[in-house]
Amino acid sequence: MIVLGIESTAHTFGIGIYDSKKNKILSNAKHMFKPPLGIGMLPREASEHHYKECDKILKQALETAKIKKEEIDLIAFSQGPGLGACLRVGASIARFLSLELKKPLIGVNHCIAHLEVAKVTTPAKDPIMLYVSGGNTQIIAFDEGKYRVFGETQDIPVGNLFDVFARNAGLPMPGGPVIEKLALKGREYIPLPYAVKGMDVSFSGILTTASKMIGKKKIEDISYSLQETAYSMLVEVTERAMAHCNKKELVLAGGVAANKRLRQMCDTMCKEREARFFVPEFQYCCDNGAMIAVLGAIEHEAGVETKLKDSRIKTKWRTDEVKVSWI
Ligand code: AMP
Ligand code: MG
Repeated sequence: MIVLGIESTAHTFGIGIYDSKKNKILSNAKHMFKPPLGIGMLPREASEHHYKECDKILKQALETAKIKKEEIDLIAFSQGPGLGACLRVGASIARFLSLELKKPLIGVNHCIAHLEVAKVTTPAKDPIMLYVSGGNTQIIAFDEGKYRVFGETQDIPVGNLFDVFARNAGLPMPGGPVIEKLALKGREYIPLPYAVKGMDVSFSGILTTASKMIGKKKIEDISYSLQETAYSMLVEVTERAMAHCNKKELVLAGGVAANKRLRQMCDTMCKEREARFFVPEFQYCCDNGAMIAVLGAIEHEAGVETKLKDSRIKTKWRTDEVKVSWI
């Protein structure tokens, strides 16, 4: 079955094509909205970007996959969670293609798609996933019939911590890679609020404290301390989730998975517990259409389909609300 997947939860508009029979991702086209320097992302502007790019991305996805529109068997789209204005673009295009091509439609959960694409593109079979991005921070695993959230942020996502700190410090966006570079030159650890609350984490106190140090402490030392504190918190909670669920695999996903220090900390933790650690190829770590196509194919094979009348977007769709009929 040839599945076309559409991603549009936030800044990225992506279309991927997956051949489920061959278990092969044929293409993964995308384009990211970049807000002007110093300004955060306005959902309306991001959605306009998606409308502007969609034609080009669709063409690119079909050309790379060497597939004609008519050969597509199923249209999958990110139904949530995400920004309403952005999600609506993907959902509208998906409905349109489904009607035009007379092919079934399936709305999938963005967070679970990150995990399922990791299972297709790495040897991981039943992992815990540490999902860290600009819009999400969750520790997810399949347990007793559902994908469950074993830990998450109580306030801002970790990528957002870096982005907002960078903006406050007048650094270029996105903040994560800039802070990673600066942190390599950091020498002094500046204590920041280590906020692990049960299985959850909180980053807003770190952001406030670190922002107050701008101009008073070396930016390299603040960056180093930000990374060490935030990543230690995440790895602590992830390790506890692995122990609780008795899982022997860890997958790191989301844009923050690019960070070498976080990878190193995850790797050390896994080695100590004799677990295996995987990071999917980076194009599948960030938001992308291929992961939506992959989850669409898996769910459809299990008999799931989304009727047009049920295809409304779900901005706050939680991972643990999804009925998992395919495992
Ligand atoms: P996503 O939301 O998955 O597209 O990921 C974007 C987020 O990842 C932004 O918040 C970036 O600051 C962050 N990010 C990207 N590269 C890195 C990196 N090398 N280290 C830390 N964070 C990063
Ligand atoms: Mg994502």
